[in-house]
Amino acid sequence: MIGAGAAGLYALHRVRGLGLLAKVFEKGDGVGGTWYWNRYPGARCDVESWDYCYTFSEELEQEWEWTERFPAQPELERYFNYVADRFDLRRDIEFNTRINQARYDDEQNRWLISTSSGETVSTRFLISAAGCLSEVNTPHFEGVDTFAGQQIHTARWPKGGLDVTGMRVGVIGTGSTGTQVIPQLAKQADQLFVFQRTAQFAIPARNRPLDDDTLEELKHNYHERWELKRSSSTGMGRRPTEASSALEVDEATRNRAFEDSWARGGPGFARAFSDVMTNPESNQIASEFVREKIREKVDDPDVADTLVGIDHPLGARRLIVEIDYFETYNRPNVTLVDAAADPITEITPQGLRTTEGSYDLDLIVYATGFDGMTGALLAMDIQGVGGLALRDKWADGAGAYLGLVASGFPNLFMITGPGSPAVYSNVIFSIEQHVEWIADCLAHMLENGLDRIDSDPEAEAEWTRGVHDIAHASIIGKTDSWWTGSNIEGKPKGVTFYLGGTNIYREICDEIASNGYEGFVFQPAGKPESV
Ligand code: NAP
Repeated sequence: MIGAGAAGLYALHRVRGLGLLAKVFEKGDGVGGTWYWNRYPGARCDVESWDYCYTFSEELEQEWEWTERFPAQPELERYFNYVADRFDLRRDIEFNTRINQARYDDEQNRWLISTSSGETVSTRFLISAAGCLSEVNTPHFEGVDTFAGQQIHTARWPKGGLDVTGMRVGVIGTGSTGTQVIPQLAKQADQLFVFQRTAQFAIPARNRPLDDDTLEELKHNYHERWELKRSSSTGMGRRPTEASSALEVDEATRNRAFEDSWARGGPGFARAFSDVMTNPESNQIASEFVREKIREKVDDPDVADTLVGIDHPLGARRLIVEIDYFETYNRPNVTLVDAAADPITEITPQGLRTTEGSYDLDLIVYATGFDGMTGALLAMDIQGVGGLALRDKWADGAGAYLGLVASGFPNLFMITGPGSPAVYSNVIFSIEQHVEWIADCLAHMLENGLDRIDSDPEAEAEWTRGVHDIAHASIIGKTDSWWTGSNIEGKPKGVTFYLGGTNIYREICDEIASNGYEGFVFQPAGKPESV
């Protein structure tokens, strides 16, 4: 297995349960994946703690006590460490070890893996739990090596923290990460310059500590929440609401609904009405509501204009959940630079230059995101049947049958791979579904003497077409963002995750498994021909 984040830990637990020997290679020196690497100040999950956790063990659910609605990075890292200890996982994890190459040997039907520690390992099955947001994206500005100060990507924040007291700090990027780190750095830095290229919608988190009554209710309702997660299209344990179209109600009713949703906070804002994501007119009304709310928070109208100059519909990029973000621009030590009108041109020894100005800095923080969905997989040299490189297979766009197995790469399972709901869902719940499907598939193979699984290229192509068709019809597919791969130069553009709903996706996966794994091709042990 590749990676000891949420996916790798659970995969290890389940694969061990099949009686197979298993080993996880993890490039960091601890578990937690995203929550190991993203330790920048303000790092916090924007899915509620009671949803962003494993459900596979009722004991675990009953033992663990979340302290906040939206858990912060240290608490999440503690959680994954607790899980690693609770299920005795560490003994099969090799830390500080990156997988450089994985090569499928057709004759032996084995994956040959080369690691950064110089080891070569041979395995029948390889499971990627490398993560959808683990390959960092750092733009290549001219002069980047000449900078005399310190430069850091938010996903590489030092373990011991970074004291920015008295520093002149530049932050590039105002996505979910930038929005979290900026208010924290502003409290310490002498001066903070924020370079915003694309203004984005953000909804207040309304984070809060969880009191005893809430915790008791959460533990009591464990089963009901699990059912809700399974039936929901995003894997969240919320009770469905009877929302109508935003256009069916009068203005006063509509405003009340938006006000209520705003007051509740969190990523569910768009659910105030059923058609915010599908009807441009409803979306426009919701967008204006949020713009107005942002304006109210910002003292300087010019700064507010730059913050609400949003060029895409609400929800077309991942909705940001913020704490004190917009108010931060009212601080005297914070300057917003409109990097769309005045782009960054180069890094200099003293700081950073834009077309119209220059900024002297001691620290440059890159909150510039990730090469999402495929970045971590393609960072390794993965070669399938006949030496076909995964990079070449995906040169014009990534896809795998159900997001699980890419044809020509037998016995390589991808957890939350391209073609699955992955990042458009409560990802930890999607991870569990994938791990359980893979474990069942492995059990099926063991029971039936099958030792090779591949996907049928036609089934894969049809699935991938379906994924694209749904995406093209949605506002997400029409908007540039990391969701469409447009943040990475040279990357084929397009949504690679399934937007049809996690509940529907699960049904399809289960149906395919119960139909004898339709669309997959198995080979029995010792026989060269496919059956
Ligand atoms: P992101 O959404 O891709 O944002 C990257 C930011 O960097 C954008 O503002 C982007 O501007 C800017 N940028 C990139 N290259 C630039 C350049 N050359 N010049 C100027 N600006 C540049 O990345 P992220 O904020 O790390 O978030 C990625 C995802 O991680 C989120 O959508 C979410 O799924 C996850 N995440 C979740 C949480 C949470 O749970 N709260 C927190 C952090 C991240 P443009 O928009 O113009 O490209």
